Amino acid sequence: MENFSRRSFLQKVGISAGAATVLATQSSAANPNQVHYEGKKLNIALCGLGRYAGYLADSFVDAKYCTLAGLVTGTPSKAVEWSKKYNVPTTNIYNYQNFDEIINNKNIDLVYIVLPNSMHKEFTLRAAKAGKHVIVEKPMALSVKDCQEMIKVCEEAGVQLAMGYRLHYEPYHLELKRLGQEKVFGQVRLIEVSLGYKTGNSIPKEWRLVKSLSGGGPLMNLGVYCIQGSRYVLGEEPIAVTAQFGKVSDKEKCAEVEESITWQLEFPSGAVATSTSSYNCNVDRFFASADEGYFELHPAVSYGPFRGRTSKGELSFPDINQQAAQMDGISKVILDKQKLPSHITGEEGLKDMKVIEAIYKAAKTGKRILV
Ligand code: NAD
Repeated sequence: MENFSRRSFLQKVGISAGAATVLATQSSAANPNQVHYEGKKLNIALCGLGRYAGYLADSFVDAKYCTLAGLVTGTPSKAVEWSKKYNVPTTNIYNYQNFDEIINNKNIDLVYIVLPNSMHKEFTLRAAKAGKHVIVEKPMALSVKDCQEMIKVCEEAGVQLAMGYRLHYEPYHLELKRLGQEKVFGQVRLIEVSLGYKTGNSIPKEWRLVKSLSGGGPLMNLGVYCIQGSRYVLGEEPIAVTAQFGKVSDKEKCAEVEESITWQLEFPSGAVATSTSSYNCNVDRFFASADEGYFELHPAVSYGPFRGRTSKGELSFPDINQQAAQMDGISKVILDKQKLPSHITGEEGLKDMKVIEAIYKAAKTGKRILV
């Protein structure tokens, strides 16, 4: 399922990956924030070498506060291939069985978990118990209970737990957050934010379509971005949720998980956020209506380049390497021995998981659910 890749996104807008690399390089070279750095870098081990880990691995060339120092994989051939490609010493390579031995490896500071959702909790706990900081991909885990346990174990182990929320470091999203929270166009009343990709079935079934591995369908995989966007633009937590499952058009593909889901979040200010996430339609947009204007992005959530405008004109920010910006942002705080800001920690993943559980409950019962 090539559903959420930079390449497929670029193909949709007609830019080749090569051309985009040149653009990305040019824009980061032109970025005045790119100061030279020669101090210690945070040594990161990627755990799970699938598609997204590939983007992360390629992004280290644009990162200045961290380096790809280790690999954790269940596939021996990938260990050999990635170790050569990314120049990772064989002493820093682990499989799922011997992973706990990483406790003895002083050359790894942080484990970045990029495994199927059902494995996030186990590997977060194992990394924390080995004394390693953790970045865990979205969604944080399969349940609120699991997220709470992950936070507790990391706290007890004295390690930091970060979420892989790349958009928290992305200039267009930082602007959306500012426009909403600082009420630049007055109080936001309505947010419409949706993310979906039309995807086919796969044989064998890819893990995203297997409930025990994914925890659910597009809500878990894509909807988490819509929940995030609604929450950080308003700077509020939802108080109640209503939701509806969409009709299933491909019963084989979506035998275990929803094919699409629509929901409405009510916020204390009276603002409403309405979203759809789907494996049956292509959508990637954000729109906010405020008392004195509007702001929007389209595309809004993919790997960029983003395009956006407000009721006063175009938005224009550099097209950055989102993965490098995120890993650098987290690494710099850890290198400085500071606490990560709460919006990038496990607490943030937990808040999203509470909303996800409420949305599923609302869709199943047809009732308005308090969050
Ligand atoms: P993927 O299928 O490409 O990779 C998954 C990796 O896990 C593979 O290396 C696979 O070998 C390994 N694996 C171990 N046990 C497995 C099992 N039982 N079944 C399937 N694979 C198994 O998936 P991905 O797209 O790289 O997603 C991995 C994680 O990253 C997910 O949590 C996903 O939500 C997240 N993700 C985040 C973003 C983002 O933009 N932040 C984008 C894509 C994926």
